[in-house]
Amino acid sequence: MVWVIVAAAIVVWIVGLWLILNLSNKSKRKKRCEATYRKAVSQMDGGDYENAAFLFEALGDYKDSAQLCEKCKPLSRRMLFDRAVALMDAGKYSDAILEFSDSRLDGEPTEKMIEECRARMRERDYRRALEKMEAGEYDAARQAFESLAGYGDSRAKGLECERLKREAGLRRNYEDCVARLEKGELLSATRSFRMIPDGYADKAALGERLYAALYEAGVERYEKGKGDYSAGKQWFPEAKSFLEELPRDYGDADDYMRSICQALYGSDFCPDSPYYKHDWENLEHVVEVDNELRKIGHGRRRCKCCGIEEDFSYDYDTDGY
Ligand SMILES: [Zn+2]
Repeated sequence: MVWVIVAAAIVVWIVGLWLILNLSNKSKRKKRCEATYRKAVSQMDGGDYENAAFLFEALGDYKDSAQLCEKCKPLSRRMLFDRAVALMDAGKYSDAILEFSDSRLDGEPTEKMIEECRARMRERDYRRALEKMEAGEYDAARQAFESLAGYGDSRAKGLECERLKREAGLRRNYEDCVARLEKGELLSATRSFRMIPDGYADKAALGERLYAALYEAGVERYEKGKGDYSAGKQWFPEAKSFLEELPRDYGDADDYMRSICQALYGSDFCPDSPYYKHDWENLEHVVEVDNELRKIGHGRRRCKCCGIEEDFSYDYDTDGY
């Protein structure tokens, strides 16, 4: 008997709790709706039709929300449309396009306005690309022209940017070469000189100046080192570094190079090699391990340039192989 009473009490308790919660929820919801409704009305009165319409729509059939929503919507679209026009006039075309799309105002040419925005945007981007091009920012300008997808002569302008960039690169090399030559930095001047294509500006005349300077610097160091073996060791490599930049047939530069390389390379000097050193190929080559377990190489070799042959042998360890 007792469990029946306990069960009945629990059921009554649950139903009571449900009723209380339900009623308080209903009254809470009613209060919330009223607050939202008042907020929407004040927004409408304040001219904020966009947010008011949004709230009235959310309120559904609460009071005259549906009616007020229908009243606010066209006003809201008008607002959006006017704002879109203002944005367009301010040059904020992407934002303007979004607002025009949202406004969908009857009787207004929104599609035409959106087209107008796009046209103005392309014009602006084209103008900006031109400015970049004139400022020498060729990569950025080319990218900007390419993103205009064939608008006007943007494709041709993109190619023009590439050409101008190439030319600027050549001009930089040329100017760099002249500047370094004047500072007496002959070897780096030579590196820039090599990157100038033949026929560019007065490259030939610049080359004559550069060669004369290299020759003079090379001979001057050769003379310093000549006749004094220990001094020669110091000055000959420098003389070589200048003279080897010259064309092989430049005056008597080749004679100087031969004397210098003969002194520097000794028995390895080759009169016929473009590098003044024998270019060996092995005719036979044997590698052995001796009693002390060192590797020893020996054989016969021939120079590919002058054709002389000789026996050779070397110790792998002492030669650092
Ligand atoms: Zn040789």
